[in-house]
Amino acid sequence: MLIALHDSDDTNFPNLALMKIAAWHRQQGHEVVWYAPDEAAQYDRVFSSKVFSWTPEDSGLPPWTVKSGTGYGIFTTLPDAVEHICPDYSIYRHVHERRNSRRKRPEPEYSLGFTTRGCSNNCSWCIVPRKEGEVRAHADVEEFCRNRHVVLLDNNVLAHDHGIAQIEKMARLGLRVDFNQGLDARRIDGPIAHRLASLGWFKPLRLACDQKGQMPVVERAVNLLRAAGARPKEYFCYVLVTDVDEAYERTMFLRGLGLAPFAQAYRDFTNDTSPTIKQRLYCRWVNHKALFKSILWPDYWEQERNRRGLAA
Ligand code: SF4
Repeated sequence: MLIALHDSDDTNFPNLALMKIAAWHRQQGHEVVWYAPDEAAQYDRVFSSKVFSWTPEDSGLPPWTVKSGTGYGIFTTLPDAVEHICPDYSIYRHVHERRNSRRKRPEPEYSLGFTTRGCSNNCSWCIVPRKEGEVRAHADVEEFCRNRHVVLLDNNVLAHDHGIAQIEKMARLGLRVDFNQGLDARRIDGPIAHRLASLGWFKPLRLACDQKGQMPVVERAVNLLRAAGARPKEYFCYVLVTDVDEAYERTMFLRGLGLAPFAQAYRDFTNDTSPTIKQRLYCRWVNHKALFKSILWPDYWEQERNRRGLAA
């Protein structure tokens, strides 16, 4: 069989579901290639994944394409035999060499996966509880780990005993970890801070401060982590942006704590509303480090308003 993979989003981040589908089909002796429109007639199956709702759909895909992902509004899960296979990380290295593909990404130099799925919090802006349900154990890190660097996609790893046990295991194995979706500051107490401090890090330690009420919680968590000796390259904190003035207050608070804020404009997954120009400019100001260090937001906003002829 000839299996074609189609990654709608085409970001720089590897697509975990497609890597697992590739691994399973290779195990069956099938050939796996990246989708190329001019070769569609040759494929036995096409799998398309779309994570983001704002990514446009590729109207040229064959009608029999198997689609999945939040971006398609399809929350199907992979069969267990596929879900719990070690992903084929090499698809980013050699699959595109055989076929004429636009994809030129290198093979990721880290392992990628979930040790837990779901989240039992119900933050109103978040799709995870609707998509994945309650937090639960999912996999052992050794199921998908093939080198010393691991990117975990768990949405709330600290909310389940299995996630905490996996943190202890990763420390024993000497792995360097990135909790890509962030750590829930509310769950970081003294013992958890010590467990986290025993890990190696290869990216910033990521937290989130999405509401004003989380400011003291984040401050406490960072103090506990620092006291426990956690030594990530950087403390990084996501800032959800709805009301810009309120986000500015959180951003400056985080800056005062010595954290690196990263602003993300709120996007509604159900009706796919786009961020306002003010929200977009705010995110640009926070995330563009040279801007962030050289000018304050009120001055930057005024400058951009005048330049673009925007209302206050
Ligand atoms: S804690 Fe994080 S993953 Fe869980 S519902 Fe809130 S935003 Fe979503």
